[in-house]
Amino acid sequence: MAKITLSNLAHSYMPRPTSDADWALKEMNHTWADGEAYALLGASGCGKSTLLNIISGLLHPSEGRILFGDEDVTEKSTTDRNIAQVFQFPVVYDTMTVRQNLAFPLKNRGASAQYIGQRVQAIAQMIGMEAELDRKARGLTADAKQKISLGRGMVREDVNAILFDEPLTVIDPHMKWALRTQLKELHQEFGHTMIYVTHDQTEALTFADKVVVMHDGRVVQMGTPQELFETPAHTFVGYFIGSPGMNLLPAQVDGMIAKTDGGQISLGASYAELDGKVEIGVRPEFVSLTDAADGLPVTINRVEDVGRHKIVRADCAGTVLNIIVQEGEEIGTDASRVTFDPAHVNIYQNDWRVTPSHREAA
Ligand code: ADP
Ligand code: MG
Repeated sequence: MAKITLSNLAHSYMPRPTSDADWALKEMNHTWADGEAYALLGASGCGKSTLLNIISGLLHPSEGRILFGDEDVTEKSTTDRNIAQVFQFPVVYDTMTVRQNLAFPLKNRGASAQYIGQRVQAIAQMIGMEAELDRKARGLTADAKQKISLGRGMVREDVNAILFDEPLTVIDPHMKWALRTQLKELHQEFGHTMIYVTHDQTEALTFADKVVVMHDGRVVQMGTPQELFETPAHTFVGYFIGSPGMNLLPAQVDGMIAKTDGGQISLGASYAELDGKVEIGVRPEFVSLTDAADGLPVTINRVEDVGRHKIVRADCAGTVLNIIVQEGEEIGTDASRVTFDPAHVNIYQNDWRVTPSHREAA
């Protein structure tokens, strides 16, 4: 197993890229720690598969290097990189049985018959296909075939990393949850470096120790679920993670005060002077409705009861503002203002989070 380093990596599918938009991956520098479970999360087309295929060696990057540990593997094949990869759609040998399909990667590497037998059994149990081991793959459902693909990706214990590219797309919803749990257990048991691509935030947040959020060919944040929630590094992370996502209000920032169209709010921290597009970002969980005289005036448009809590859709000086009201809390009939928890207000300049120059002790 190995730490994976991406050094000045960039990729374009065009022979002579000129503008920023020609690059499917913009230049990036990142390290993926050995033995960690990562989710690579982002909207369709943002470059997830491109990045994964470059790490596995299916695609040669236009620029930059890939290191496994201290070794430069940029010119090495997937086989030489010792990587297992599971794709979105099943890749199985139709004429082989389920058992032969699962055994294939081990056989290829010359493992003993006894070890193969034992390992195939364990994997078959994990994917729930013990009863079908001697059936030919031909004629099985897409769902079953994808489980075989997953099993094949997990059967070798000696790989440097296992890469999953939206592997549960064709799996039915019930089985999805079970398989995801098993992948997590597998990670805990063997400690492989795993990178799991998904566009689904729930899938990412339940699977991974670290979530890597991609937007428009860039990694915009690599962090724990809590970091993504509390301090989104980019407005896209605030918007993409959370339900509903983070509120953004245009503002001018002056020290510990932000001026918005609806009025002033005090910040839990002090900021240097900012120019460009400046916004305050606050998640709906940290907005409170109040009937007191302080706070920003809002107009409530709609209240949605989603079970565990209520989502209030409001308007604040022409900007949409969402508020989460926890179960058991009342929405006062006079509630016409909102306050923000200062410890959870972030400031964004041209979409990137600004680190405060000084934060007040709580
Ligand atoms: P994701 O997996 O996040 O959906 P991809 O990595 O597949 O995104 O695609 C990133 C960008 O690169 C998209 O704009 C896509 O159209 C483009 N792209 C992907 N594969 C190719 C290819 N083989 N040739 C040309 N463009 C491609
Ligand atoms: Mg993809």
